[in-house]
Amino acid sequence: MRALLASQNAHKLGELRLALPGWEIDPIVGEAPDETGDTYEDNARIKALWGRAQAADVLVIGEDSGIECVALDGAPGLHSARWAPGLDQADALLARLADEGERRTRMVTVIVALTPEGREIVVEGVLEGTLARERRGTGGFGYDPIFVPIGETRTVAEIGDEWKNQNSHRARAAHALRDALSLM
Ligand code: IMP
Repeated sequence: MRALLASQNAHKLGELRLALPGWEIDPIVGEAPDETGDTYEDNARIKALWGRAQAADVLVIGEDSGIECVALDGAPGLHSARWAPGLDQADALLARLADEGERRTRMVTVIVALTPEGREIVVEGVLEGTLARERRGTGGFGYDPIFVPIGETRTVAEIGDEWKNQNSHRARAAHALRDALSLM
């Protein structure tokens, strides 16, 4: 399977490549459009349509992700990339929940994929867990040093990329995409 990822994020590209062995996934060069949607799906579709405008004959993958804290009624969610302007987003979230006992948190990825035949596939991957009390580990990116998957005591950044590439919210969405395509 050949695919284009409508993102400049090298971490996302690397993770999708490892979650989908045998696929040839390249990034789309250029500046992606602003994420102006009201949902992850909207934003993933905005990216996918931008990608489709660059290349007509290949599967295009748009993806959008976020972290959702129960104590914040699901925030920062859609705004995970920029809810704390000028600050490291992970550190800001730790500080925001410093005095909070409710640590339940989840990571979400939505993929909107457009096939060369004009079909749209929407899939989601969720990883449930808790918010750590402090930053730990060096793997992954973004919120990985402060997110502890359910059943674990280590953060995703401590557990490491090999685990993440098969079990993360993004890997789960990628596997759901692969399954959906195999049924077509
Ligand atoms: P976006 O999907 O690029 O808009 O990412 C939203 C925010 O979530 C950014 O702050 C990313 O760094 C963060 N993020 C996205 N994916 C992951 C992940 O797999 N682990 C940790 N943080 C992530």
